[in-house]
Amino acid sequence: MGEGRDWRRTINWAALGLGLAVVVLLATQARWAGGGAQREPGALFGEARQGGLTVALGQAAADVKVTEARAPGRPIVLIDPGHGGPDPGAPGVSGQVTEKQLTLTFARELRALLAERGRVRVALTREDDRALSLEQRAAIARKLGARLLVSIHMDSAPNPLARGATVYSLSDVASDAEAARFAEAENAQSNIFTSERDDQVRFLLADLALRDQMEDSAALAARLVKVAGPGMLLRPEPHRFAAFHILRRSEVPGVLFEAGYISNADDEALLITPEGREPIVAALARAIETELSLRMAK
Ligand SMILES: [Zn+2]
Repeated sequence: MGEGRDWRRTINWAALGLGLAVVVLLATQARWAGGGAQREPGALFGEARQGGLTVALGQAAADVKVTEARAPGRPIVLIDPGHGGPDPGAPGVSGQVTEKQLTLTFARELRALLAERGRVRVALTREDDRALSLEQRAAIARKLGARLLVSIHMDSAPNPLARGATVYSLSDVASDAEAARFAEAENAQSNIFTSERDDQVRFLLADLALRDQMEDSAALAARLVKVAGPGMLLRPEPHRFAAFHILRRSEVPGVLFEAGYISNADDEALLITPEGREPIVAALARAIETELSLRMAK
């Protein structure tokens, strides 16, 4: 398995090399053509990630605080509690909770556990009940220079018997029709793409980096499924793929995690108690730490 990943990496790097050569060629052509000067060059892909904490974070990220790790220089994990403000997300079957409340509770508990273990720095996209667009959430990940993004959600289905957690990683092609519909519904919250600003060069670089991003996103999702203990109920085929706007636009590897179905009475009963959440939060923390330590060792 590791060998396969290495191979793909080698191919990706070769592709990146080729891509850069084409970029230089395109840039040269643009200068010769003269007309290219009218095209706003824009920022090259990845530029935002060079911004450290000293860079002004803009309005969306203004309130984002980073919990430090025990040692300096550790990577930042960004935890994104889904929904918030006027968008409650799915209602709980008991009528006592909504998705936006539980996502925030999960995010706080995950941050507390990661901070206690001290191996990574942690930040939350929102600390309270506020509205954030998907684009703002993704922008926070870019501006913070986060190394992983975990967006937390609670599932809901018309079938009251549907139970268990699902983890979605980023892909151009959805794993199944349900995943595609889900991504479409999630993406509907997002603002319009700024595609007119994306010139050829930017597309090419983004495409190459995107392959690495998707690969690391899938690795994190697979890791989470692997470390799930008996206290974390998973759906059949718990790792699914789809084109999630927030995962793509964050430009960092990430997953969208559905902790369980609040439309199911048993799942909801677990998700609303600290004891029920504990094994899920622990699995998330383990998966995050392992993936980051593996990546930093490369
Ligand atoms: Zn949701």
